[in-house]
Parts: sequence; structure tokens; C-alpha cells
Amino acid sequence: MSWKPSKNDLLGLLPDRLVLTRGGAAGQARYLSFDDGPDPVHTEPLLDLLARHDAKASFFLVGKKIEKHPDIVRRIVADGHMIGNHSYSHWSFTHMNLQKQLDEVHRTDALLSKFDRRDHHAMRPPHGYVGAGLMLHFAIKRRSFIYWSYDSLDYQVDMAREHFIRRLREQPPGPGDIVLMHDDNARALDALEILLPEWRRSGFHFRALPAGD
Ligand SMILES: [Zn+2]
Repeated sequence: MSWKPSKNDLLGLLPDRLVLTRGGAAGQARYLSFDDGPDPVHTEPLLDLLARHDAKASFFLVGKKIEKHPDIVRRIVADGHMIGNHSYSHWSFTHMNLQKQLDEVHRTDALLSKFDRRDHHAMRPPHGYVGAGLMLHFAIKRRSFIYWSYDSLDYQVDMAREHFIRRLREQPPGPGDIVLMHDDNARALDALEILLPEWRRSGFHFRALPAGD
């Protein structure tokens, strides 16, 4: 069995703390989140942009990339953003037994803890797939998955740039929305360079999601 974020009816049946799909009760804040980094080309320009507009975000990092680019992770944390767990290899969990999935989770937790001193981190599995076994393990351990409520579709490379930006502008994330984006390519960065100043002028605030326990 696998669980997908689009199945909000199923996710809604689970305990609140186990699967987060919206930001906290922080009023008007929006929550940008970036998967698949740290990236040696795209992450730092994104950090520069976020800093210029006083926006905090959440980065779900891939363990093997953390090992290659520790300086970038150090800066993400120093800039006040949240770091979350996006597995070690970024292989889909659908083809792994539970032990292998836990190896991916724990190995990346250990890497992340060197930067933020936390034992556990909020988890976003590759492609959002979570089997029932890992879901149950997290429930027992009182750990959290963080999904999203607003999919930017920045991974749909066949969507024209103008259409991508227009969609974000005309249907922007609302209060409490967790926005799914990626920082291993230029797509989201390119759009945010245009939209973030507009959104800030509109009074939008961007905060980091709560870190794991
Ligand atoms: Zn990913």
C-alpha cells in the first residue's frame, strides 16, 4: 500500500502530528519548501534571493548531496531556514523493504544532525511515496512527515516558462499553504526572482516549517 499527498481524504484520517500538509497556526504566513538539494549551482542564488526579501523556507535535503556540499547546508542553517530529510539516495521507497527505507532515513538524519544538532528531522520521502510500514513506524516513534498543499509543478519541464509564472501569479499560495518547489534546477528560482518581490509587496510573509524533534 502506498499513500500519496493527493489523497487528502486518507491523510486526513491520520493523527495531526504524523502528516503535516499545512503550515502552523501562524496566521498569514506561507511556507516555501525546496526538495532535492543541496545543489552547487542553484541553491546559493536561491538563498541570496530569500535573504534579500526576508523570506524563510524549508529545504528537504538528499543525504548523498549533503556529503558533497556541506558548506551549502551550513549556510542554509545559518540563514535561518529549516532542513528536513529527503532520504539518502533519492531512490523511490516503493521498491525498498522497510529496513532499507529506515536505513535511508537514519543515515540522512545523522548527516543533518551535524548541522542543526537535532536527532530527528521532518521527513519528505522521494516522490512523496510512503508505505504503510514506514507510516506506522513514524506514528509509533511520534515522528512527522511533511507534505505540501500547493504543488508549484516546477518539475513539469514541458510547461512553458510564461505559463508556469502566470499560474503562480494568478493562483498564488494562500495563508498556511506549504509550497512544493525544487532547488536542483533553475525553474523555481527564475520564477521567484519575479514573484517574490511582488508577493512581499502584497504583504505575504514566508516562514520556515517547524523542524523535527
Ligand atoms: Zn525529490
